[in-house]
Amino acid sequence: MLEKVVIANRGEIALRILRACHTLGIRTVAVHSTVDRNLKHVAMADESVCIGPPPSGQSYLDMPAIIAAAEVTDAQAIHPGYGFLSENADFAERVEQSGFIFIGPRAETIRLMGDKVEAIRAMKEAGVPCVPGSGGPLDDDPATNVKIAREIGYPVIVKAAGGGGGRGMRVVHTEAALVNAIATTKQEAKAAFGNDMVYMEKFLENPRHVEIQVLADGQGNAIHLGERDCSMQRRHQKVVEEAPAPGITPEARAAIGKVCVDACIRIGYRGAGTFEFLYEDGRFYFIEMNTRIQVEHPVTEMVTGIDLVREQLMIASGHTLSIRQEDVVLTGHAIECRINAEDPDTFMPSPGTIRHFHAPGGPGVRVDTHVYEGYAVPPNYDSMIGKLIVHGADREQAICRMRVALSEMVVDGIRTNIPLQQRIMRDQGFHGGGQNIHYLEKRLAERKNKTLAIG
Ligand code: ADP
Repeated sequence: MLEKVVIANRGEIALRILRACHTLGIRTVAVHSTVDRNLKHVAMADESVCIGPPPSGQSYLDMPAIIAAAEVTDAQAIHPGYGFLSENADFAERVEQSGFIFIGPRAETIRLMGDKVEAIRAMKEAGVPCVPGSGGPLDDDPATNVKIAREIGYPVIVKAAGGGGGRGMRVVHTEAALVNAIATTKQEAKAAFGNDMVYMEKFLENPRHVEIQVLADGQGNAIHLGERDCSMQRRHQKVVEEAPAPGITPEARAAIGKVCVDACIRIGYRGAGTFEFLYEDGRFYFIEMNTRIQVEHPVTEMVTGIDLVREQLMIASGHTLSIRQEDVVLTGHAIECRINAEDPDTFMPSPGTIRHFHAPGGPGVRVDTHVYEGYAVPPNYDSMIGKLIVHGADREQAICRMRVALSEMVVDGIRTNIPLQQRIMRDQGFHGGGQNIHYLEKRLAERKNKTLAIG
């Protein structure tokens, strides 16, 4: 078993990793920026190292500083959490070259999945269903591209191979707009990602976002832990997630799960990972793989009873998977609401000091947060200050528990999106389940128009 781990992250996920480490008797090293001295996990860690000033480029993204922290503290491994360096293949490589264990897949796997064209190619070969598309990078020949788009059928979406975070994509509805759209996306991709490679896919008009959680030990064993529905999104950012996804039958789950497991074994995947799919008319279409723990992992933990971060640590310690596929049983329903320090109507970030804080409780209620009364939310990072997760015997009970939990939760001194989450939990459409990825934005636009009309 690992003895000491550096937690190369901040906020709620750093605390989550610390808890998993301490449960296993692993000592922890917190690395933090100057503005993050007062983070809860920094106080709770066995050791802490300040790695730089607030801007993440000079702290949480500073590879030599993080590796040096592992060196001076005699740690064995580095857990990258999510965001920051978690999907940076160069970082994973440098960590391993410096003699430490990177808690995640091999660098070459991260690199493969970071190049979307290559990732899709590899997944297709492994039998994973993908969105109909160009199957490779587009070249500069307009006639060829027009032909590809005709074969796929409009609308199509032009996407940057190196894109991420919902950027570097353009939907094209007509042939007249195609050639220009490709040229513009290429230019933007070059400027934003330093890589002008683009590819084309069929644009699915009303898909849901359904993703499969996997665990693999890199020693020939892999399992899936069912799916999550993350269709409630705003600007490609997930707002609410749930497990299982409404309407997915056990047979469909087992089938797509097996495809993902087989793909993991084929590519020698190691660690926790997520296959993201668009789901439309009963079909799954692979869009990308996340090679790290995800923000929404707790909903899977709640329905499976499996501690995913613990499993990451076990795998990194060299253990073979101790859970067999038949041991994975889904019980009840779980929902997660992301709690952000932002205005619930304008979505403007709202950093500042939390004057009063009260966490909800009761059966099936879990709060993953690093904040406390008197804590100052810095303006330098992502606005998520925690996650409220509930588990119920069924979806109905989970929604009821979430409503009560949200009504109990007090975060005073800053604005939060709790009122928005309350509206979502009362929304008829959400209640029905299985809404597509455009639903939330559509409802938000309707509300804005109504307010304007009344105002
Ligand atoms: P990123 O890495 O930037 O998140 P993705 O490939 O995961 O890029 O796509 C981000 C989002 O863009 C998806 O969640 C979906 O909302 C939309 N999208 C991507 N590809 C398609 C497609 N072929 N059809 C419809 N929507 C798409």
